[in-house]
Amino acid sequence: MLIVQKYGGTSVGNIERIKAVAERVVKTQKNGNHVVVIVSAMAGETDKLISLATGVSLNPDVREMDLLLSSGERISAALLAIAIREQGLKSMSFTGRQVGILTDSVHTKAKIEKITGERVKRAIEDDIIPVIAGFQGITDTSDVTTLGRGGSDLSAMAVAAALKADLCEIYTDVDGIYTTDPNIVHEAKKLDKISYDEMLELASLGAKVLQTRSVEFAKKYDLPVVVRSSFNDNPGTFVVKEDKEMEKVVVSGIAYDKNQAKITVTAVHDRPGVAAKLFQAIARTNIVVDMIVQNVSSDGKATDISFTVPKTDSNKALSLTEGITAEIGAKGVTLREDIAKVSVIGVGMRTHSGVAAKMFETLAMHGINIMMISTSEIKVSCVIEAKYTELAVRVLHDAFGLGEKQ
Ligand code: ADP
Ligand code: ASP
Ligand code: MG
Repeated sequence: MLIVQKYGGTSVGNIERIKAVAERVVKTQKNGNHVVVIVSAMAGETDKLISLATGVSLNPDVREMDLLLSSGERISAALLAIAIREQGLKSMSFTGRQVGILTDSVHTKAKIEKITGERVKRAIEDDIIPVIAGFQGITDTSDVTTLGRGGSDLSAMAVAAALKADLCEIYTDVDGIYTTDPNIVHEAKKLDKISYDEMLELASLGAKVLQTRSVEFAKKYDLPVVVRSSFNDNPGTFVVKEDKEMEKVVVSGIAYDKNQAKITVTAVHDRPGVAAKLFQAIARTNIVVDMIVQNVSSDGKATDISFTVPKTDSNKALSLTEGITAEIGAKGVTLREDIAKVSVIGVGMRTHSGVAAKMFETLAMHGINIMMISTSEIKVSCVIEAKYTELAVRVLHDAFGLGEKQ
């Protein structure tokens, strides 16, 4: 089998961990497989690099940021290749550029456009274990890009798809995908399998165990994915196509996201084109708007619009919005960063009712006020005050009986 193994930051967090990862890679290869490895930077390294940059400038240039950030993954890739060689097998580390991971030029959140992968294919033919630095690519003008936080998951899925791998194993610091973050709710249950769509919702709603775009990639290419721990040999969770069994479960997970901020524009003109003008201005800067709520205007003249953006983009979004207040006739703009989004997810919601009501009731019972609500076919999300996040996740997990599930 051709197996792509991705190891996250904690899994390569120190020299002992890197040696342990090398052992697993060597064992898998010796069992008759071809292994291709993708690594993240050592735990904490990316944050450290970001704070170095913000120590130099509050608004560091994004091109320079990418060259800086890509170095974290290069370090762990080289160290792992050395460790594998030390254990007697051939190995070579590669940067995103050497693998031919071509991206667009949106620095710090680039999208992969193509992977040539020639050197990796040659290495596999020569029984050399390639260790690829995750999280990075290169533009058509040879500038280094990074793929957004958690982007090594995307590198792994994209390389697995390009090589038509038989399996993509994502090794992390928990045993698999749980009904909610097991570090917050100890009763959370590990799932044997989860559908691509549910995983996509969980990820996009904040469960950082897999990066959202990586799941989109896996779904698009029907990639067999398993998420498991690099600390033990427990079986993990398979991410698979939806099957009939899954619809019987109404709610399969709870997610939270503390990385969003809420912007409210007050008393904008209630007429065609106003929302278009506002969100076009924001979209042009590649800021991803998540929830949008527009009130019904009581007098037919003015209304409030609230929306959420990633916290990292909130100041930029705020000044953009302030810049067009006159144009859209708004009275004012406010920013709140002390918010969190809590979401209840399940494909069974398509055929069952009452999930939203139960969610609102549970939050109310614990005195948690809801600021924004959004729903899709398979999820309900509420924006609440950030200080209630853990409480909300725990009581919702309990209310939907997730801890009791096998
Ligand atoms: P890595 O460094 O291996 O990429 P991450 O920190 O990005 O690891 O992702 C793993 C973390 O995701 C876990 O430690 C856990 O706290 C968090 N997490 C959030 N939601 C879930 C969930 N539903 N199932 C498992 N882990 C989750
Ligand atoms: N090192 C990057 C980050 O911390 C990418 C990754 O770990 O997947 O976001
Ligand atoms: Mg991650």
